[in-house]
Amino acid sequence: MAKILVYNNDTNRMETYYRGESEAMPYITGRTLTVREFRGSSNSPTLWTSKRTMQAWNAQRYLWGMPIPVGFAFKRPWEGGHSNQSQHYAGVAFDVAQTLSNSQRTALRNSARSSGVWSYVEPVSLTPTWVHFDKRALSSACPTGGFPLVRRGSRGMYTLIAQDDLNTLGYRTRWSRWSFRS
Ligand SMILES: [Zn+2]
Repeated sequence: MAKILVYNNDTNRMETYYRGESEAMPYITGRTLTVREFRGSSNSPTLWTSKRTMQAWNAQRYLWGMPIPVGFAFKRPWEGGHSNQSQHYAGVAFDVAQTLSNSQRTALRNSARSSGVWSYVEPVSLTPTWVHFDKRALSSACPTGGFPLVRRGSRGMYTLIAQDDLNTLGYRTRWSRWSFRS
């Protein structure tokens, strides 16, 4: 059973869900994205994402019209990914289509780009054997941007990354109502 924290962009509040690995992620249409698919290889007992990320998935899945195989989505900073600045740490990024053909990946990448639902779709030069799309908070490209400023009173998934890091380093994070403990 995973604890899933979802930042609701409409209400500016955090929501907490408990879901089995084969159940759908919160806000997901049908079972097009399960908890197991979202966590990929992550062993974290707590996962986080945002409502608008799940809604973007729903739109992309609807446009594609077929299952989208997910290789990786959520990661903690020490679980690998794209160096030390990754939108996967915020639970807003997907690495998909590893098992599809090159032409299928190209079609999906084009679909993701033209859909307008994602903040960023990585070019084929950076992701030749998968497709990366994400719903980052800012629009600038990896690795120099896309992360908002986190400070006292901040809410959302980016706050959870900072709290996760601080807790792991032995600090108790009391500066937010939504203290995270692994
Ligand atoms: Zn990625």
